[in-house]
Formats: sequence, C-alpha cells, structure tokens
Amino acid sequence: MKIMKFGGTSVGKPERMHEVAQLITKDATPKIVVLSALSGTTNSLVEISNYLSTGNRISAKASIDKLEAHYRKFITELVKGENFQSKANSIVTEHFEFLNIILRISFSDALNKDILAQGELMSTKLFCVYLEEKGIDHLLLPALEFMSIDANEEPAFTSIQTKLHALLQHHSDKKLFITQGYICKNAKGEVDNLKRGGSDYTASLIAAAANADVCEIWTDIDGMHNNDPRVVDKTMAIEQLSFEEAAELAYFGAKILHPTCIWPAQQENVPVKLLNTMEPDAAGTTITKEAGSVGVKAVAAKDGIIAIRIKSSRMLLAYGFLRKVFEVFEKYKTSIDMVTTSEVAVSVTIDNDTFLNDIIKELEPFGIIEIDKNNTIISIVGNEIAETKDVMKRMFDALEPIPVRMVSYGGSHHNISLLIDSQYKREVLQLLNKGLFGL
Ligand code: ASP
Ligand code: MG
Repeated sequence: MKIMKFGGTSVGKPERMHEVAQLITKDATPKIVVLSALSGTTNSLVEISNYLSTGNRISAKASIDKLEAHYRKFITELVKGENFQSKANSIVTEHFEFLNIILRISFSDALNKDILAQGELMSTKLFCVYLEEKGIDHLLLPALEFMSIDANEEPAFTSIQTKLHALLQHHSDKKLFITQGYICKNAKGEVDNLKRGGSDYTASLIAAAANADVCEIWTDIDGMHNNDPRVVDKTMAIEQLSFEEAAELAYFGAKILHPTCIWPAQQENVPVKLLNTMEPDAAGTTITKEAGSVGVKAVAAKDGIIAIRIKSSRMLLAYGFLRKVFEVFEKYKTSIDMVTTSEVAVSVTIDNDTFLNDIIKELEPFGIIEIDKNNTIISIVGNEIAETKDVMKRMFDALEPIPVRMVSYGGSHHNISLLIDSQYKREVLQLLNKGLFGL
C-alpha cells in the first residue's frame, strides 16, 4: 500500500488535478490518496468564519459568493461531459448551500470547524467526479469515518487504525482510495481538524495505520532543501534524511513539511518521500530511519521567538529549581524550544506568547526575569554533527560578525540551535550557506 498526499497547489487548478490523476495511476500499487483543499480555499473559509464570529454577515456573504464563483469556474475546466458537469455542480451547490445556511444560524466553535472542513470535502468529491469521467476505478473514503482526535486533541491512533482496517477490508476489491486530509472527528463526535497544514499529518497517520510501504508527500518543490530558497540564492535538495533530522527541520522552519507529520511514519517505520508534482521524476527527499550520510545537511530558521531569562542566586547549588520553572510552562501549555543554563541563570525560548504575562507573573518569585522578543532560532541539522569535528568551527567562523544570544549544542546528535536577533536572520542564513555548504 502506498499513500500519496497532494497539497493545495497540486490540486489548485483543474489541469493540476488532471496531472494528479495521471500520477496516481502510473502503477498498479494499491493507494490511498490524500487531498488538501484547493489552494486558497482554507484561507477563505477562515475569513468567512472570522466575519461570522464578529457578526459581519455582509462580508461573510461576499466571501462565500466569491469562493463559489471560483468553484463554478473550476469545474467547467475540470470535467467535460454534461452529466459530470452537473454532478460537479450539484456538489458545489450542496456545500455552498451549507455555507449560506450558516449565515443565518448563531456562530459557535463547532460551526467554525464545520466551515473549515468544506474545502477538503469539496476537493475530494470533485476529484472523484473527474476520476469517474476518466473511467478510473476508485472509492472515496470519508476521513470523518475513521480519522479522529481524542480529548487532548491528539490523534486517536488505535481507533484510526481499527476503523481504517475495517474500511479497507470491507472494500478489499478496490485498489484506489481517495480521502480528505486535515479533517477529523473530535472526542465529542463533532467535525474537527488537525490544524492548519494538517493534511501531511493525515497522510502520515494513514501511512502508519495502514502500515504502508511509503508515504509520498507531493508539493511544488523538489524536496527539502539545505537552506531557505526565499532567502539564499543557491540551495540544493537533500537526498536523504533521518526521521529525527526531518522532524528538527520541519519544526525549525522548513515549510515543506508539517512538523507533527513525522512521528506516525517514524513510529511504524514507513519511509516518507517529498516529491514535486511539477517534476515527478526528480528524486526528491527520502526520509527514513537511516540518515544516509554523516555531517551537516541543512539550516532552517524559525521566527517569532521569545527568550525568557531567569536570574537567581537561589539557583546556586540548589536542586529542583529547573523543575519549578518548567512546571510554570507546563501549566500554561507553552512548549519550550531551547534551554541554556548557567549556575545562576536559566534561559528558555518559547514561540507562543498567548500566556506570556501569566508565565512572567508566576516566574517572578524565582528571581529577576528578562524578556527578549523578536528573535530567530537558527537550527543546523545533520547526522552526528556533534561528533563531526569541524562543524562548530566552521559555524562560528562564518558567523563572526553576528552577535549570537544563545547556543544549544549536544541535546541531540543531529542539531545545533542558535538564537539571534531576527534582524540578522537573512545574513546568518547566507553566511552559513557559504560557511557550511560552500554555496
Ligand atoms: N487545507 C488545510 C490548510 O490549508 C490543510 C492542508 O492544506 O494541509 O491548512
Ligand atoms: Mg495547505
């Protein structure tokens, strides 16, 4: 079994959907194809929801109409035959009728999730109409019948596995399944989602649940690159990464892959491939248990980082101090990215400032608190870089003109993290591209 996930841009135009149909029928391997919403749709749905949450029905209606026009046009180029046109039209009608009805009912969080689900529901149904017109045998597996999260909003993996198995068993005569990324049911049985960009997560969860041979993530670039192509001129695709390396890169800024999407595949040891719809024969990036090679592979940057420094002479020779500090972050469900300590101070970084004021208030009894905003974490990722002798030297040589605020090294065998003021980000990525990759 092979899982193939196509993102918003890969299904965002009728001709792209046609290409997807070709890619999924190239070989006879049984497949589950996971689709995102057409590019831009989820953003529009968020906008509609936001208007409704503030009672702005007029703007919500205008956005709904604009989106509907987009879909009406889309289907004129998606399918040709009259009865397929009318099938596609009735799908669009059904979903926009729903959106128009919600204009008249009171807004709630559950309704918001229902609104956000419309994109993937439509993209998959419309794609199936196209497959039908092409005479390609397939089955639409509704994600809401097997994909779920528990009360902590974590995937209910055992249940997903059981339900998916039952569905596949029930349709064992089928070889091609289409399903929605992103959407799921929550513990209350309501429609919910795996957060923005969550279709990758869906694909990885399905790959793990179905114990697939491979999980292919199709996007519009040829894999994970060694640096941010938006910032530096020359970058190259990375051939192979370990799950750990890929997770670090995804978390620390490489936009191609959703950070949560690594663990399910890793848990069941399913290789993940990042491939390019525009260049389907390019090798892309393969993510497996093995790292493939030793040394530095990539750098990535994550903005919007807040550093919190707690200085206290009480820390001197004391035990249990760090636990008390960490408990405060745990209480406010705020995760810490970097930690450095000295004998009288500890610095941590966070990227979520929702509870910053509460956190500061609770930390104040521990010592003097300093807050430092607008930072960027630069993450240098590679296999056994802690054991690769010259990496630190090359890194610091390259960064000679840059004031580095924090360094985290040795936490794992495949990561060095630096904290810098965000104003230096571009320069740092460029300097490291030269210093570490000679590009
Ligand atoms: N459509 C959703 C989003 O745009 C999920 C995804 O594309 O992965 O966030
Ligand atoms: Mg997307």
